[in-house]
Amino acid sequence: MATAYDYIIIGAGSAGCVLANRLSEDPSVKVLLLEAGGRDWHPFVHMPAGLAKIAGLTSINWDYITEPQPQLGGRRLWCPRGKLLGGSSSINAMCYIRGVPADYDEWAARGATGWHWDNVLPCFRKAERNSRGADAFHGGDGPLSVSDLRYVNPLSHAFVEAGQQAGLAPNPDFNGARQQGVGLYQVTQKDGARCSTAVGYLDPVKSRPNLRVHTGAPVERITFDGRRASGVACSQGGRELRFTATREVLLCGGAINSPQTLMLSGIGPADALRRLGIDVRVDAPDVGGNLQDHLDVTTLQHCTQRVSYDRVSEVKTAVQYFLGGHRGPGTSNIAEGGAFWRSPLATDERADIQLHFIPAMIDDHGRNRLPGDGYTMHACFLRPRSRGRVELTGARASDKPRIDPNYLGDPEGFDLKVMLECAKLSLEVFAQKAFDPYRGDWIFPPQQPRGEADLIEFVRSRAETVYHPVGTCRMGSDDTAVVDPQLRVNGVEGLRVIDASVMPNLPGGNTNAPTIMIAERAAELILAAA
Ligand SMILES: Cc1cc2nc3c(=O)[nH]c(=O)nc-3n(C[C@H](O)[C@H](O)[C@H](O)COP(=O)(O)OP(=O)(O)OC[C@H]3O[C@@H](n4cnc5c(N)ncnc54)[C@H](O)[C@@H]3O)c2cc1C
Repeated sequence: MATAYDYIIIGAGSAGCVLANRLSEDPSVKVLLLEAGGRDWHPFVHMPAGLAKIAGLTSINWDYITEPQPQLGGRRLWCPRGKLLGGSSSINAMCYIRGVPADYDEWAARGATGWHWDNVLPCFRKAERNSRGADAFHGGDGPLSVSDLRYVNPLSHAFVEAGQQAGLAPNPDFNGARQQGVGLYQVTQKDGARCSTAVGYLDPVKSRPNLRVHTGAPVERITFDGRRASGVACSQGGRELRFTATREVLLCGGAINSPQTLMLSGIGPADALRRLGIDVRVDAPDVGGNLQDHLDVTTLQHCTQRVSYDRVSEVKTAVQYFLGGHRGPGTSNIAEGGAFWRSPLATDERADIQLHFIPAMIDDHGRNRLPGDGYTMHACFLRPRSRGRVELTGARASDKPRIDPNYLGDPEGFDLKVMLECAKLSLEVFAQKAFDPYRGDWIFPPQQPRGEADLIEFVRSRAETVYHPVGTCRMGSDDTAVVDPQLRVNGVEGLRVIDASVMPNLPGGNTNAPTIMIAERAAELILAAA
């Protein structure tokens, strides 16, 4: 096995697979892609509705858990992250959402020079192959397939109708001229199967002789020659392997693991590193800081008709899917319906609340099956003010980091106020006429809340993550930013971070498409600098 490459990419997730594809386009450039997890062989990774079955599979999930959250009754929240080819894009819910232009203009205003909407729209379009074809907003021939759902549950149609009855405008394209409104999500699927970045970007090019993909190879730390990143040390089967990078090391481990790997490599808050016996290379206090996530409250009701996905036969669904040409409920991403809403607390023209409607009962992220039939509304605040942190607990990569998202921890209590709006909107949509034929008893909350105290109790006891941690290796132009606007790690050479961790703040929506956009743009920056 060769040990010297031009580029070494750490992590084959949403971002890493994009880079592996783009950088190995030139056959003279040698690229190594290292992934801690295994291959994406599991059939339920590829059958979209299989996401409910793989949610608890720890063999393909880092299976993190947060510190106790004081504002959430001291609960520890589950924090899943994909650990396989495709990373979290292989286990996510496939909703294709970019956020709005003002999100990226805000990034640029905060020091992410060159990342405003006009810069990033071409990268979103370059990535995308939308089944509706190309237009001013969408790409038609990129590696990432984006499609309409092949199968939609009747409850999701009722949700879209109910949203309109509650005053939301119908919206057939949340990534077009207008984000606000209610509709069905477009999904990252190709021919009814999941299109992770492993499927879209890696599979078509993995036979390139200049691209080596190495799974089961967790990187322990980045190695240096003076100030320059020279390669990586990774472990495999109890052995340490070393690889050298003649051009650059590209860290794509995601919002939890990238700051961990930087800190294990001596780049982070100096005192904390010294306490663990790690030699300090760069005192970078902000590594691991600025952690942001979309907190989400789920409202559940029983359904009086047997139409939800709760009791569909798994065997029949799988047979119809695998033998019937990817048809039927197996093609559902489960989170079929969506909405973007501007609450009375919105501070500008952007939507501040996103809904995901699920025609099934989702308790504990789908890991706890409830009896009967029901439906679930997820509602999250898109622009939280609370900031948390990722820290090391030990000096080895196998020591799980300490994750404290500090949910609802903003001093003004603004995040909690908007979460109450999230709960109110969910209840309002469920109260509409369109749900009359289906509405059964309350599940969560167990009864109609009687006032603000009930709503506060509901949010504190039920809120969970909707899986969008970002910001822990913040991009910016100031001295404390972890990476500069070219995503180069400040204080060293030959090292970039390219994944969701570099986002200065959360975009107004799901984070897979924005991460893929970041990697597309990073590939252009790297190739321009080579
Ligand atoms: C359950 C779930 C549902 C979601 N639903 C949606 C959705 O519907 N729509 C949406 O847009 N977004 C969704 N997201 C969020 C989205 O998928 C992520 O924001 C995005 O995938 C992050 O990409 P990334 O490249 O930063 O990290 P990841 O995709 O997580 O990739 C990181 C990769 O690096 C590997 N790695 C980490 N450390 C090391 C190491 N030391 N050595 C080697 N390899 C390493 C990991 O195993 C992983 O493969 C969801 C996420 C989850 C978990």
